Amino acid sequence: MGFLTVRDEDPQSQARPGRRDVLTRALSLAAGLGTAAAIGAAAGPAAASPAKTASPAGAASARANQADWRFCTKCYGMFFRGYPTDGACPGGGGHDSAGYDFNLPHSIPETPTAQHNWRFCTKCYGMFFWGYPDNGRCPAGNAHAAAGYDFVLPHDIPATAKSQRNWRFCPKCYGLYFYGYPTNGRCPAGDAHSVAGYDFVLPFL
Ligand SMILES: [Zn+2]
Ligand SMILES: [Zn+2]
Ligand SMILES: [Zn+2]
Repeated sequence: MGFLTVRDEDPQSQARPGRRDVLTRALSLAAGLGTAAAIGAAAGPAAASPAKTASPAGAASARANQADWRFCTKCYGMFFRGYPTDGACPGGGGHDSAGYDFNLPHSIPETPTAQHNWRFCTKCYGMFFWGYPDNGRCPAGNAHAAAGYDFVLPHDIPATAKSQRNWRFCPKCYGLYFYGYPTNGRCPAGDAHSVAGYDFVLPFL
């Protein structure tokens, strides 16, 4: 599973027992709920974002990862593709997905190489950083609006065959986007995204 893969590939974090404890607790919780219906209900508010993920959601939340996060070919942003519609793209219309199916960790402790406060935006379906007093710029207008899981994104660790680096924070819109091309996509605050902060290394399925 993605969660274990990431941890196993990071020798530093193997030294930290915290994550396994959390995983164990999460699994116990899910098991304790008993019925699929109960698990689905529990996934409700947290899974906010993932309507479609609702059935696999039980499993997804138990292992503290959510899949269906994709790269958008128009804006280069990371967005959630688990709904029938694809949010609002700064490039116009909904986002267009391509590439890997990212399986992103959430609801685990922050570490020196994993940053929390990354959230789903209910207006544009993008991933944005929620750690500032304001919430950047949303392609759907005004600031982003957070819901769902608290994603904890690995950064500044070696990429592997199952993870991709070059995912960066944009200080103009607060979005997460792919910085691996010569151009930087389309920013809702105008022109292309800018770059700052960590080099995120994101696991995919
Ligand atoms: Zn887009
Ligand atoms: Zn937004
Ligand atoms: Zn931007």
